[in-house]
Amino acid sequence: MAEHKLTELQKRFGDEYLVDLNATAAYRRAGYKGKGNVAEVNASRLLSNAKVQEYIQTRQKAREKRTEITQDMVLQRWWAIANADPNELIYHRRVCCRHCFGVDHAFQWIDEEEYKRAVESARFVAKQNKQKPVIPLNIGGYGFDPTIRPHPKCPACYGEGHGDVKVMDTRDLTPEVRMLYAGVKVSKEGIEVKMRDQDKALENVARHLGMFKDRLELEGGITVKKLEDLL
Ligand SMILES: [Zn+2]
Repeated sequence: MAEHKLTELQKRFGDEYLVDLNATAAYRRAGYKGKGNVAEVNASRLLSNAKVQEYIQTRQKAREKRTEITQDMVLQRWWAIANADPNELIYHRRVCCRHCFGVDHAFQWIDEEEYKRAVESARFVAKQNKQKPVIPLNIGGYGFDPTIRPHPKCPACYGEGHGDVKVMDTRDLTPEVRMLYAGVKVSKEGIEVKMRDQDKALENVARHLGMFKDRLELEGGITVKKLEDLL
């Protein structure tokens, strides 16, 4: 190990770099002088120094051992987020209307209880307005289930039903979907379910595996585009 050949300042740079992997910031925190571009250039030069690299990698391995948190674990977490199915958290569905499954497509009630309440309400309204009550009919029968798909030949909704958004009970999520779930915001407009960025997670995985061939990593962490991408 070449660690002993490093200066105290270089070591401090390595330690600081491990905090946030920001070479320029680490350069300044370590106590090096230099402003703006100079700091940036010197920092990337320092980072590409073989001895500094060796020191950083040794410290990184030691940290993995200490914390038992490995790069593989982080990678697996990103992969899980990228692959989680958002439908297991929230989904939009088309559901039947009141006429879809009523007898002869007449209005279908949930149960007798609901129908009786509607009749009472009609009588009450008529009495208030001193009019003859218009009593609703129950020829469509009972058993309305608002979760069923629309009837394709329904004359009232033409098989379209209506849209319904359902959010799952977040206590019941699978571990993968739980990672995708980033909380819920309740407002006047309703509830907003937040999710982690799946595209970003996939990008992180791809970058970690070195799949972006359109960029060339040069020494010192400077990145340039390949010539054919610029044409
Ligand atoms: Zn319908």
